[in-house]
Amino acid sequence: MTKICLECGEKIVGREDKKFCNDACRNTYNNKRNKDTTNLIRNTHNSLRKNYRILLDNNTEGKTKISRKKLKDLGFDFSLITSIYTTKTNNTYYFIYDQGYMPLDDDWYILVKKN
Ligand SMILES: [Zn+2]
Repeated sequence: MTKICLECGEKIVGREDKKFCNDACRNTYNNKRNKDTTNLIRNTHNSLRKNYRILLDNNTEGKTKISRKKLKDLGFDFSLITSIYTTKTNNTYYFIYDQGYMPLDDDWYILVKKN
């Protein structure tokens, strides 16, 4: 069976488990792949930082209420959090680092700060 280099598409000569024709091709391939991963992580970090900023800027007293609409308008991304905390009374808080929120009724949220 003919194996083909994952980077340049040339036929590979040699050991059966080889994936690249040489070190240069392997390095190029891995650098590209790492770059994609780096971009994904960077974008996620930026969105998390934005979420964190929004909570921080709107929770100057350490505890406050805010509407879902306002959070949305500010660009808050509800899919990005860093941890979840459920209390004994079964209330679930969603945290971005030390800034958290808990859904209330009627699309309101309470913002809290982790001690
Ligand atoms: Zn190659």
